[in-house]
Amino acid sequence: MDRNEIYRRIPGVDRLMQDGAVRKMTESYGYDQVLDAVRQVLDKIRKKLGEIQSDEEAAQELDHLPDQIEDILKGWSRYDLRRVINATGIILHTGLGRAPLGEKAAAHAMQITSGYSNLEYDLESGERGDRSAHFEKVICRITGFEAAMAVNNNAAAVFLTLAALAGGGDVIVSRGELVEIGGKFRVPEMMEVSRARLKEVGTTNRTHLSDYENAVGADTRAFLKVHTSNYRIVGFTSSVSLEELCGLREKYNIPVIEDLGSGVFVDLKEYGLPYEPTVQEAAAGGADVVTFSGDKLLGGPQAGIIAGKKEYIDRIRRHPLARVLRIDKFTAAALEAVLMEYLDPETAEADIPALRMLTCPLRYVKQDADTLAGMIRAVLREGEKKEENRLPDAGEADETVYETLVPITAGECRAAAGGGAMPGTEIRSYAVYFEPVQITPSELDRRMRRLEIPVIGRIQEGRYFLDMRTVDEREIPYIAEAFRGGSILKKG
Ligand SMILES: *Cc1c(COP(=O)(O)O)cnc(C)c1O
Repeated sequence: MDRNEIYRRIPGVDRLMQDGAVRKMTESYGYDQVLDAVRQVLDKIRKKLGEIQSDEEAAQELDHLPDQIEDILKGWSRYDLRRVINATGIILHTGLGRAPLGEKAAAHAMQITSGYSNLEYDLESGERGDRSAHFEKVICRITGFEAAMAVNNNAAAVFLTLAALAGGGDVIVSRGELVEIGGKFRVPEMMEVSRARLKEVGTTNRTHLSDYENAVGADTRAFLKVHTSNYRIVGFTSSVSLEELCGLREKYNIPVIEDLGSGVFVDLKEYGLPYEPTVQEAAAGGADVVTFSGDKLLGGPQAGIIAGKKEYIDRIRRHPLARVLRIDKFTAAALEAVLMEYLDPETAEADIPALRMLTCPLRYVKQDADTLAGMIRAVLREGEKKEENRLPDAGEADETVYETLVPITAGECRAAAGGGAMPGTEIRSYAVYFEPVQITPSELDRRMRRLEIPVIGRIQEGRYFLDMRTVDEREIPYIAEAFRGGSILKKG
């Protein structure tokens, strides 16, 4: 068949729209969308035919036109923001949405947002209420602070606090705490945009109380402490504690603000994890205002919580930017639900996914890795049986499948808290390791990312692996199914 003949065989738009399979697509996708897809496929095929050398290949391109149309339609109708399975072992993975929300909190948020709610309505008085009221009391009960509110994220919380309490004045910060968090949060830049002037004191490794005191002047509006969330300064170091700084506050009547970063409510040392300052300690230590994230170690929705003495929180609430940075009803609902879990530490540990994954004993993670490895071996074997239409002899299946496709082992690995929390802390974990024979580890990684529910694993030292610390037990059968028949491991 010559090339002109092939071109002549490209159907027109109208004829393709009349094709049985294509007509059927209009029922689920609508006429206009199908028409757009048909045009796109025809454009593509004309361009492609010009590039293809062999006539045989060109003729093949003309087959499966309806399939190509359907692929386009499916792509259009699929959400771009999708659920994925996190098998990276990084619990607060910024790329994968940081803290996953617990089921109770997600269900509550859905219930509140799918109807009307008393978001800013006082049910007692029938008058206008405050959206922070729903979780303010519970924050105060847990932490011991007098008042609390929430904004879009912790960056916004720091920014608003500085703008409201120190805009136009000086804020004294130790040089050891001029933090940069990933994603463009830098303390000096936050200061600048909040119109507070940064007054650096001390050195990178050592700052003394006298450094703070010597810097106090007529324009000083606040002392700021910043938790060094994502790095540690070790060796010859010294820093000033919150309590010491609060001593100066008494002397000069200047508020002490602490940006806690993650802001945890539970003592992580109890789980063999490194110390993270808790919000309760900051309250007991005398901080005037603290800020922390809702979706780091707290395990809630993205939010920045500001808690502290009532006079300061009231000033922050009245600032015009509070309206700009306010949280929405999804967040308000989810935040209240997550905070309520903390009233009982045992419930918190069980119901808040980030906390559960962080504290899960190694033996359970190992159990999950063994389960997944076993399930994958089973579905690979089942696939082989079907292909050959016979049962493999004893020991044979392992050899044919594992030798030609993939040696699978469960073994120890290192997970991490992520999200700029607990730097350098490796959390013991278990993974399922794959050493595919016919394809490269990065090809397997790519194929896993293309599943209907994408699975995000890791590659290290030439092996692809799935860290089970961040995989929910209920996701295991889905991951195993991807290996049925072994085609995901085969060349081509
Ligand atoms: C993470 C972090 C922030 C920013 O919080 P987001 O919720 O990501 O906006 C600010 N300060 C510190 C110390 C942090 O660790």
